[in-house]
Amino acid sequence: MGRRFVTLPWSPLRWANSITKMLNAVYGTTPERFPVNVTLVAKEYSHQRFPDDPITLVKGATLPGFDGALYRAPAAKKGWGIVYNDSIKSAGRINFTLGHEFGHYLIHRLSHPDGIECGDQDMVRWDSDYAQLEQQANEFAVGLLMPLDDFRRQIGPKAKPSLEEIGACAKRYDVSLIAATLRWLQYTERRSVLVVSRDGFILWARSSDRALRTGAYFKTVGRSPIPIPELSLAARPSLLAGANAIEHDENVWFAESCEEIALASDHYDFTLSLLHLGRAVWRNQDDEEPTDDTFDLMQRSLGNPG
Ligand SMILES: [Zn+2]
Repeated sequence: MGRRFVTLPWSPLRWANSITKMLNAVYGTTPERFPVNVTLVAKEYSHQRFPDDPITLVKGATLPGFDGALYRAPAAKKGWGIVYNDSIKSAGRINFTLGHEFGHYLIHRLSHPDGIECGDQDMVRWDSDYAQLEQQANEFAVGLLMPLDDFRRQIGPKAKPSLEEIGACAKRYDVSLIAATLRWLQYTERRSVLVVSRDGFILWARSSDRALRTGAYFKTVGRSPIPIPELSLAARPSLLAGANAIEHDENVWFAESCEEIALASDHYDFTLSLLHLGRAVWRNQDDEEPTDDTFDLMQRSLGNPG
């Protein structure tokens, strides 16, 4: 084995924080700090830290049915390769995939010596019904690409951002609008909910912590599909083409009034609705406990894979 001592494996957050500190020290607050150049960082960091087992290759290729993969180099060569699906149109999705695979390299290469192949991470909601392996790689990618200290400087925890403002962060970090919105939902002190819908039904939704604790959430797992409200912006494409924000009365999305900002995605056939609720605390009438799928990945304690 050649390993002389046993250390506890680092958590995804510890890896991300360690590299974030290093990048902060190198780049400070210069414009070069973001977006994180995952290809460069993955190669240099792995060569420094694991010189016998580094990442030697990062490239696009034809990957049938998945978005990215971590492969071990052929027997004659040393190291690892990160490969992304070069048919992906969204640069943000590619960048997130690279961060995700770098996470697999750091966290999982010893337990998965043959490598790992991965699907689309944008639409997996980063939550518990997905494998812990993928959660951990996503948690690393989120921490590496969108460090909270910087994100909080872009959009304060009490701010009520528009999709344009979150979109500016998505651009800053080179991630998709969904990934940036999910990251913002993790720290905002507001009551806000992201709803992703298609063909008039909710695909999935994610609430900020404060919204979740005050009953503003949609449970989508293990039940029949929830139609989006007829009066919602998401249900009225003609309105959506003209304006992307609307104030709703009570009993549209929730019993209370809310503001909806919506956007029909160009790349996919779904609609994003960001719902901003007021400060008032309101309890869900059926008093159902939120299930696991509504909890935030980042608040889960993470153990060893497997
Ligand atoms: Zn993966």
